[in-house]
Amino acid sequence: MKSLLDGRLKVYKGDITEETADAIVNAANSTLLGGGGVDGAIHRAAGPELLEECRRLRRTDYPDGLPRGRAVLTGAGRLPAGSVIHTVGPVWHGGERDEDRTLASAYRSCLEIARDHRFETIAFPAISTGVYGFPKERAAAIVYRTVSEFLSANAAPKEVRLVYFSEADAELFLRVAGEQ
Ligand code: ADP
Repeated sequence: MKSLLDGRLKVYKGDITEETADAIVNAANSTLLGGGGVDGAIHRAAGPELLEECRRLRRTDYPDGLPRGRAVLTGAGRLPAGSVIHTVGPVWHGGERDEDRTLASAYRSCLEIARDHRFETIAFPAISTGVYGFPKERAAAIVYRTVSEFLSANAAPKEVRLVYFSEADAELFLRVAGEQ
């Protein structure tokens, strides 16, 4: 595990479904009804209660789905985390469709929810870098900038965890962060 930003940013390899943070972030799709990758893993580990809560959100606040770059809070079902913040990152189309700004907005929206609920810890997976195809280096630079700006302006959350699914992805992030 590596610590950056005065110990407030932790970076390591892990499985986000095993995190005990106040909130874990789900790289959801706009249906909020589950999918592949980390979304599928989170729903499998959380159990039916989480899906039911997401269905309820679709019926009430988000009949057309959650817009890209936004985030919404739910409980965590059987997960060890306190709650789940679902966000929808951009699909990579080559960089000309506001993908950078949408990715930054997804991270910021999650951090705002964590701050507003006075969460001490929040754990993120690498949003959009799987099936959505966002280039990992480019995402790493955006994530580092977005998180550092947010933490320097806000006392909460106290700690942000970036949980990468492979050692190589965690190392790539650390290299890019070191170049910023
Ligand atoms: P997206 O559709 O936003 O691209 P994916 O789920 O396809 O989301 O992938 C996002 C990232 O999450 C990928 O880098 C993938 O390696 C990672 N990932 C997949 N499963 C897990 C998990 N259980 N814990 C942490 N990260 C995961």
